[in-house]
Amino acid sequence: MAEYICPHCKKPVCDDDALLCLFCGESLNRPGKHIPRSRLLFIIIVLLLVLSLLFIFLR
Ligand SMILES: [Zn+2]
Repeated sequence: MAEYICPHCKKPVCDDDALLCLFCGESLNRPGKHIPRSRLLFIIIVLLLVLSLLFIFLR
């Protein structure tokens, strides 16, 4: 687990999944790589569903 230094209050936040600083409540401005895995899976499933529906309608 990597520590992340809050850009607002300069305190280390050790919660990997935190989007808000535990101390000052400001957004941590994390780089875009941070997408929860469950959210990613959900998006993929929805995309597959839409694609399969399109496939059925276009046949
Ligand atoms: Zn902070």
